Amino acid sequence: MRTLITNAYVLDMVGDVPNIDKKDILINDNIIEKVDKDIDKSVEVDERINAKNMLVMPGLINTHTHLAMSIFRGYKTDKKLMDWLENAIFPVEDKLKPEDIYWNSYLSCLEMIKSGTTTCNDMYFGMNKTVEAIRDTGLRAVVAWCIKDDSIKDKVEQTREYAKIYNNDENGKIKIYVSADAPHTCNPDTIKLCVDLAKELNTGLHIHLAETIDEETKIKSRYNKRSTEYLNDLEVFDVPVVLAHGIYVSDSDIEILKKIKGGISHNPISNCKLSSGICDVVKLRKNGINIGLGTDGIGSTTTMDMFEEMKTAAYLQKVNTMEPSSISAYDILKMATIEGAKVLGMENEIGTLEPGKKADMIFIKTDKLHMCPANDVCANLVYSSNGADVESVMIDGKVIMQNRKMLNLDEKQVMRQVKKIAKRLL
Ligand SMILES: [Zn+2]
Repeated sequence: MRTLITNAYVLDMVGDVPNIDKKDILINDNIIEKVDKDIDKSVEVDERINAKNMLVMPGLINTHTHLAMSIFRGYKTDKKLMDWLENAIFPVEDKLKPEDIYWNSYLSCLEMIKSGTTTCNDMYFGMNKTVEAIRDTGLRAVVAWCIKDDSIKDKVEQTREYAKIYNNDENGKIKIYVSADAPHTCNPDTIKLCVDLAKELNTGLHIHLAETIDEETKIKSRYNKRSTEYLNDLEVFDVPVVLAHGIYVSDSDIEILKKIKGGISHNPISNCKLSSGICDVVKLRKNGINIGLGTDGIGSTTTMDMFEEMKTAAYLQKVNTMEPSSISAYDILKMATIEGAKVLGMENEIGTLEPGKKADMIFIKTDKLHMCPANDVCANLVYSSNGADVESVMIDGKVIMQNRKMLNLDEKQVMRQVKKIAKRLL
């Protein structure tokens, strides 16, 4: 099937400076065939999309999620991370049934699509139900079963089994990673086992790293090392990694992180809300480390809207450095697209709009009061827009949302289900 998009203002996210121009996009099945001014309109296609008044850009990439945590939106909020997890979240998580994980994940997926995210990177338990929700909603995703020290053999076996079933499923949209929860919640043997499993499955590892100062203190007192050093000594960086947070990293840690494959997922709203700290994104990027953006789970971030994350990421760096030019709107857009793709090792597939890439793109309505005038399109996208400005979403060449209506997906049904679960458990 061939699709021709015409009259779009295309922000292709290719290169070091913004490239915005009126162009057409020709798509063959799920692959971008051509992005060019005035593609011959007589070309034979099955579908034509007129993108007048729309800015078309690559779909956003959310590099750190716990999709099934949507049920915890606003639940026992205003606590520090470990207090919140141990006293509010873990007791309820123990009662989650597989069907609950499906519906909670489904809600997060719909919320992501409606705010312009086309790919996410998830870690949680009950991963098979999360994969089902991802499959049913049409997203592209990397999914991992979050392994801690308890029942480790079962979880390793489950990851192995689900990798066999789901890796490269859905036309290659679903990829399976291995996940160890965090240096302070996994003993060295657990982490080593996860690294071996990632090597065996020829995949990557998703892990939280240096999210709070308390974790760093724990690791220091247990092993007399910083957590980045600790992971390095366990040979974690032999495999591609997604390191969620990376707030407490020293100059010597940066020397280690410079060599990793993958990168860091920066979750600015979660870090603010839990008072965890500020990731020095400017310094890390200056050292050539890939930084993607992530929301974390809804309980700690409140929404899955990546536009909110972009805005917060920009403001945090400007305050942290006391220098407004330390990070530009285009830098932030790169983190939400092509740099996020690099963090997931998917830069050859997604993250820009250019021939040969997967047709994952979002259509943003620009003739709105809060985006007028468009003196600087990138600044408008980062500082003035929000997820509700995303009008249509295409993933893998298929339109999933059109004119803000989800095609074939029932928003009311999922809200009914999640409300029922919340009533039962919270
Ligand atoms: Zn997390």
